[in-house]
Amino acid sequence: MAGLNGEDEQDGLGELDLDQYRSRTDDTEAIEFFPPNYRIGRTKYVFVTGGVMSGVGKGVFSASLGHLLRHYDFTVSQIKMDGYLNQDAGTINPYRHGEVFVLKDGTECDMDLGTYERFLDDDLNKFNYITSGKVYRIILDKERRGEYLGRDVQVVPHVTGEIKYLIRTKAHEGPYDVVVVEIGGTVGDIENIHFIEAAREMLHDEGRENVRFVHVTAVLYNESTGELKSKPTQHSVKTLLQTGVQPDIIVCRSAIPLNRKIRQKISLYCNVSEDHVISSPDTDSIYRVPSLLDEQNTAQRIAEGLRLNLPHRFNRSRPFDLYLKHLSCSHKEVRIAITGKYTALHDSYVSIMNALEHCEVQEDITIKTEWIDTTEYANGRMVDAPVMEGISGIIVPGGFGERGAEGKIAFIRYARENGIPFLGLCYGFQLAVVEFARNVCGLSRASHTEYDPDTDTPIIYLLPEQRHLAGMGATMRLGGHAVKIKRGTLAYRLYGQESVVERFRHRYEFNNDYRDVVEKHGMIFSGMTPDEQIMQILEISGHPYFVGTQFHPEFTGRPYRPQPLFLGFARAARIDTEEMAMRGTRKEMAAAR
Ligand code: GLN
Repeated sequence: MAGLNGEDEQDGLGELDLDQYRSRTDDTEAIEFFPPNYRIGRTKYVFVTGGVMSGVGKGVFSASLGHLLRHYDFTVSQIKMDGYLNQDAGTINPYRHGEVFVLKDGTECDMDLGTYERFLDDDLNKFNYITSGKVYRIILDKERRGEYLGRDVQVVPHVTGEIKYLIRTKAHEGPYDVVVVEIGGTVGDIENIHFIEAAREMLHDEGRENVRFVHVTAVLYNESTGELKSKPTQHSVKTLLQTGVQPDIIVCRSAIPLNRKIRQKISLYCNVSEDHVISSPDTDSIYRVPSLLDEQNTAQRIAEGLRLNLPHRFNRSRPFDLYLKHLSCSHKEVRIAITGKYTALHDSYVSIMNALEHCEVQEDITIKTEWIDTTEYANGRMVDAPVMEGISGIIVPGGFGERGAEGKIAFIRYARENGIPFLGLCYGFQLAVVEFARNVCGLSRASHTEYDPDTDTPIIYLLPEQRHLAGMGATMRLGGHAVKIKRGTLAYRLYGQESVVERFRHRYEFNNDYRDVVEKHGMIFSGMTPDEQIMQILEISGHPYFVGTQFHPEFTGRPYRPQPLFLGFARAARIDTEEMAMRGTRKEMAAAR
């Protein structure tokens, strides 16, 4: 294979540090992009495209397929390819594009990667996330170093080649039996066309028995006639065909299940057999999707096409069994409040919602979240009791900038003074320190230099390594770092160990000049870096649950392993709801404590 030649050449992938080699390109049209020792057929690929509209559920489908294949005992990884020219999601506003998820290796990525990690129960890395920006960066750097050997550098074969190289590198890293590759956007979009072309080339290079295409599309429901409409799906498949790709399986997202007639229509006009048309109606929970797909033998169809033997039929009730059982009965409702700048955009907090969901099953509760816009609580306005009526917990999530910050501090104060369970995440940790310094330690001017740069009491300030940085992209303190947990603390009780790894994304930190005074007044730093320089978990004793984390515990919660600090919070919120029902008022509750 030509791709294995040139052992003395550096591939020069810069930041991606692919320490690999590739083919010389001067004497052949066929430029091959294979990592060394790559073996065709070792890994099978499933490419997932989307039709008709965005937000159709490709991410949940891809994650569910990965989950199913894993339950059939295959080793699986998943890749998300996004068309935008950002090199990663770090510079994208979450209120426009959804949460910025952070991987253990510090990659800032699309929230779909969070769904993959939760469904696969695996830590992913930078190779699981490919953006056009990342690919172009590789190409432009290589071009400057003269690594294209005199060639004019083109979208085909160079851009598509680098995409294939990245996909194969991931496959080879395992090596995995199957890699599910989700192509972002909708077929027909200009910005994703090079990804679809790369996928088509993969089919050519690797052979039919190693590559399958799944098209996830919307089948529209006409309410007035009660009919499902397949025409947009037919058109989207035609658009896909124009790129040279015939889907093997069509997954139809719709308001109601497909009937036989519509299945036949899609089968005939889109050129797939009827049992390759999969019905994926809206459900009350994403945890239903794997079993829904399995009932229609989706993994079997794909495995047959890929000439993979399903090693055994797993117990169909196994994937997310607990969740489905939980959904089927009613539970005590626990109401918690989340402070959020743009209250309606839940996509920006999707991992928090998931982390809470993991705890619902354990605690046998239904958590109802309410969103609080804190911008109204500026200029020293206090939180008044009616707003918090019936609320048994407050989460102050991560954030940036001034908007709503003082209001968040007002809610933290309310939680602290009234014994309401509190969980502060990153910005929430930092603001909890500011609140405590001001209202407990008497440092009335204590502030956060992110929005109050001239304060004379900078209790939260820039991390030293951040002070000389100019750029914005990938410059925060990012990814998994060790947290040393202090014995005898609440955090230690919850984690049950002295060292954990949690995921970070911040520029500011607690200023240790104030450590003595803050600790003297009762704040406990129960988690810190192993060198004890950066404070990473705070708690207050004598409060039912008051915990802040400099990291984002929501990124490490998994369906079968709720994140311990979230679990502690959910438990405290449940107890709060129960006690409230018993005692009637917070005053009575405090008296009984
Ligand atoms: N803005 C704060 C910082 O940069 C908090 C960041 C966050 O909440 N992710 O440190």
